[in-house]
Amino acid sequence: MISNTQLQLHAPKNKIIIIKSCEHCLLVLPCCQKSCKAKSKVAITEFGSRNKTMSFACWSVALTLPPTTQFFSSSRYRSGFWCRAEGLADHANGGPVIKKKKVVVVGSGWAGLGAAHHLCKQGFDVTVLEGGDDFGGLDDVGIRGYGYPYKNIFSLVDELGIKPFTNWTKSAQYSEEGLQVEFPIFQDQPQLPAPLGSLLYTQLVQLPLVDKLTLLPLVIAAIDFDNTDTAWRKYDSITARELFKQFSCSERLYKNVIGPLLQVGLFAPGEQCSAAAVLGVLNYIFAHQKDFDLVWCRGTAREVIFTPWMDSLRAKGCKFLEGGRVTDFFINNDTGNVSEVISNRETHNADAVILAVGISTLQDLVKNSAVLSTREEFLKVLNLGSIDVLTIKLWLDRQVNIPTASNACSGFDDSFGWTFFHLNAIHDEYKDNPVTVLQADFYHASEFLPQNDEQLVTKVICYLTKCIKDFENAVVMDREIKKYPKSLTHFFPGSYKNMVRGSTSFPNLFMAGDWIINRHGSWSQEKSYITGLEAANRVVDYLEQGSFAKIIPVEGDEPHIQTLRSLNRSFNELRAQLPLSDYFL
Ligand SMILES: Cc1cc2nc3c(=O)[nH]c(=O)nc-3n(C[C@H](O)[C@H](O)[C@H](O)COP(=O)(O)OP(=O)(O)OC[C@H]3O[C@@H](n4cnc5c(N)ncnc54)[C@H](O)[C@@H]3O)c2cc1C
Repeated sequence: MISNTQLQLHAPKNKIIIIKSCEHCLLVLPCCQKSCKAKSKVAITEFGSRNKTMSFACWSVALTLPPTTQFFSSSRYRSGFWCRAEGLADHANGGPVIKKKKVVVVGSGWAGLGAAHHLCKQGFDVTVLEGGDDFGGLDDVGIRGYGYPYKNIFSLVDELGIKPFTNWTKSAQYSEEGLQVEFPIFQDQPQLPAPLGSLLYTQLVQLPLVDKLTLLPLVIAAIDFDNTDTAWRKYDSITARELFKQFSCSERLYKNVIGPLLQVGLFAPGEQCSAAAVLGVLNYIFAHQKDFDLVWCRGTAREVIFTPWMDSLRAKGCKFLEGGRVTDFFINNDTGNVSEVISNRETHNADAVILAVGISTLQDLVKNSAVLSTREEFLKVLNLGSIDVLTIKLWLDRQVNIPTASNACSGFDDSFGWTFFHLNAIHDEYKDNPVTVLQADFYHASEFLPQNDEQLVTKVICYLTKCIKDFENAVVMDREIKKYPKSLTHFFPGSYKNMVRGSTSFPNLFMAGDWIINRHGSWSQEKSYITGLEAANRVVDYLEQGSFAKIIPVEGDEPHIQTLRSLNRSFNELRAQLPLSDYFL
C-alpha cells in the first residue's frame, strides 16, 4: 500500500520499460500515457543533460499515483533497467516488501564511516561514495594520536572486537637546541585538580619553572571560554599568539613550547590560528589530568581500523563505491530536497545525503555545483582555508636510539611544525626490524611541496640530527615521501562564522567532519566520528526511522572548574547590564 508515492524509473534510452503498475493497467513506457485507467500522471523528462560525465543518457519517468493505489504487491520488474522507489523497497525473495530508505554518504573518513556505521544498523540502504584512491579518508596521512577522551572511538573498536592501539605512551618535544619538554603518562601520576597535573608533571628541560607558571593566567580565558556560540565568536576574532600575549605568557615559553605545540596541534603558526580554536582544544585536552595521554595505531589506521570496520559494514549491507568523486546534486523542486547525488561515474538517488568531506573538497564542490552555489552557507565555505602536509618515511641503515616514540619539534623555522615517530616502537610491522624506521610529518608545509626527494631527505636528516645526535651517522636506505596539498583545516581567526553546521538549508542534506560546528572542542578524529554519528541521528530524525546513536559525552568539568565557570557567567551577566558595556571593541 502506498500513498502519494513518486516512483522513478531509469532505463537506457530507447529501451522499453514494462511494469505492472497497478490492477488497472499495464504500463509500457514511454508510450502509455493514454492507456492508464488509473489516470496516473506520467511525465517524461530527459535526464542527465546537465551531467556531462554520465556515460549514457537515460530517461527518467516520474509517475505520481493516487493515494492508496495498490502497487508492487504482486508486481515484478524485469531486468534491463533499474528502479528507484522513494518510500518503497526492493523485493526480497518475492516476499513482502521491506521498506529501506536510501542514504548516500559522501566521504569515507571517520565522519563518513561513523554515519554509515549507525545508519546500517538502523536498516537504511547506505552507499558510501569515496572520491579518492582508497577508503578511510585522510587516515593514511601522517601518524595520529588517540587521546584519553576519545571515548566514542574506543567504544567503537571494542564493538568491532579489534585491538588496534599501543599502550599509553610518553612524548617529547625538541627544538634546534635539543630536548625541550618531556610529557609523562599523566594518568600514572598522582591526580591533581585540573589543570595543575598537566602543568606540573610536564617537564620543561631547558626552561625554569617561572616560565611554566606564566601559563596560569590563561586559566581565566579557559574558564571564560565555555564552548558556547558566544564564546566562539568572542575569541575567534583574535589570534592564538595575541591570546597568550594578553594573558602574560613568557616570550621563551611561547617560542620554545607553546608556539611549536600550536603548530602541530592546530597545524599553523600561532599568529595564524584562531584563539577560539586553541581554547577549544585546551578545554578538551586539559579538562582532566589524563586527557593529554595518547595511544597510537599499531599500523596504519587504514590497516588496523578502517579495513575491519568496512568489512563489518559490508556484512551489514553497506555499499562502498571507490572513485565515486561527487560533483553535484539534483534537487527535487517540489520538496527542496536533494534527490540525487551525481558522481563522476553515475547518479545515486537518495532519501538523505551526508556530506563528510574536508574543506578543500567542499570548496571545489561548491565552485562546480549548480546546486550548492545557490546557498549562502555553502558560499561562505569558500572563505575558509586549508593546510599542506608532507610525510616522509625513512628506513635507516642502523638502530638509532630514539628515547620516545612520538615527538613534536619546533624552532627550525617559524612557518612550519613537524613531528617524528619511531615506527619500530609503535607499528607491529617494524617491531623486530633490525634498522630504524621512522616517519616525519610536516604541517603548514607549502614550502616543502615543490622540493625534490633528495632535498627533502637531506633536510629531514639535518633536522633530526639537531634533535638527537645519533642521527648524524645514519644513512638513509629507503624512503617514502607523500605530499598532501590542502589536506588539513586551517582554523585562522575569523573562520568560525564561515563554518557550516550539521543541518543545512536542504532539508535532507547533512554535514559531518572535524570542521563542522558542534560543541565538541577538538579538531580530531573523535570529533569527526561524533559528527558522523550526529549526522546519522539527523537522518534518523528526518526520515523518522530507527533509533538515535548513543554518543558518549565529553567528561564534565571538575567541580572547582564548574564553580569558576558559574561565577564567571554571573560576572559576565552583571557586566552586560552596565552602561556602555558593548560600546568598546
Ligand atoms: C598529518 C595529520 C595529523 C593528524 N593528527 C591527528 C592526531 O594526532 N589526532 C587526531 O585526533 N586527529 C589528527 N588529525 C586530524 C584527523 O586526521 C582528522 O580530524 C580526521 O581524519 C578527519 O576525518 P573526516 O572524516 O572528517 O575527513 P577525511 O578523513 O578528510 O575524509 C573525507 C573523505 O572524503 C573523500 N572525498 C573528498 N572529496 C570527495 C568527493 N568529491 N566525493 C567523494 N568523496 C570525497 C576524501 O577522499 C576522504 O576520504 C591529523 C590530521 C593530519 C592530516
